[in-house]
Formats: sequence, structure tokens, C-alpha cells
Amino acid sequence: MGIQSSINVLIEGNKRFTSQQQQKRDIFREIKESAEGVRPYAAIVSCMDARVTPENIFDTKIGEIFSLRVGGNVVGSDILDSLEIAVNISDITIILVLGHTKCGAIMNASNNMHSDNVSGLITKVKPAIVATLKEYEKVTIVKELLIEKSEEKNVFLSIDAIRTNAIISTLESSGKLAVVGAMYDVATGDVSILNE
Ligand SMILES: [Zn+2]
Repeated sequence: MGIQSSINVLIEGNKRFTSQQQQKRDIFREIKESAEGVRPYAAIVSCMDARVTPENIFDTKIGEIFSLRVGGNVVGSDILDSLEIAVNISDITIILVLGHTKCGAIMNASNNMHSDNVSGLITKVKPAIVATLKEYEKVTIVKELLIEKSEEKNVFLSIDAIRTNAIISTLESSGKLAVVGAMYDVATGDVSILNE
């Protein structure tokens, strides 16, 4: 599947999800058919948040997507190594970093910008808030907008981290793969693609 097709399939799945028109599933058959091997077309990096469940959000069947979940959708070495395995063992054409609204990691970090007494994960999303504050240094930014913009910035910082992987960046330069950002709205279930 090409890059645009993979994006379209995911977006169409999300539209089915939000309109409660999910595809009819035969789980037993899916298990049976996937037992010998699967052909995922996408890898999705999303938050551990219990509301952000890619297989539901994109209405996918068994074997369609690699799903990598970690608090704040931060990309550390284990996620990066896993993505490298994903591109090596499959023909995925898209790596989607899926941020989400009302992200606890971002909200916690913004409330504790000057505290060292936070979990290591919170410190990993702080750069998104620092970068957003820098962008808005000449204007006043209300808390809600700061959170929203930081959630987006955090997606792009994860994309930057993914692109540090030589195999993935080579695939992207050659047009075989795209690393794309998106945002999930926990209030509506909608996914929107973020433009760089
Ligand atoms: Zn989150």
C-alpha cells in the first residue's frame, strides 16, 4: 500500500469509528487468517492514555497496524528500535505519531515546569512546552492554548526523534515511507492529520 493509501485507510477507519459504522468482524476468522503471518501497512506511536486505543480509533482488524504506546507518545530508544524492526520486517508505508488532547503527561509537565519532583517521563515532554512558550514569548498564551500547542509540538519532537534513525530516514528520503503527525480529540473521537 502506498503512503497516501495508508493514510486514507486510517482516516476512513476513524470516520467509521466516529459514526459508529465499524466494519463487521469475524474475530475467529481473523485469528485463523493472521496466525501464519500478517501484512501491516502502518505503525502508530501513541500515548498510553486509556482513551487512545489505535485499533479502535482506526477500526482496524488483527494484523493491520503496529501499535506502540508509551506515556506522552515520547520516542525513546526502545520505541525507536521497535520501529526499526517494524520497517525491517514489513512493508509499512507510514509511521503515524498520534498525540491527543487533554494529555495527562503534557498537563502534568506544564503544571510542574519548575519542579524536579516529577517522573522521568514528565521531564521528557517538557521540551514541547519550553518550545511552545518560546514561540509565544511576545504574546500572552492562555493555559488551554499552551497545552494544545504543546501537544502538537510534542508530536513533532517525536517525529524528529524518529527521523534520527538512519534506516527510517533513508526510507523516507526515498519516498517509500512517511513519518506523519496526527492529533486525536478525546472529546469527539476525531483524528486530524497535522501539517508540518
Ligand atoms: Zn497522553
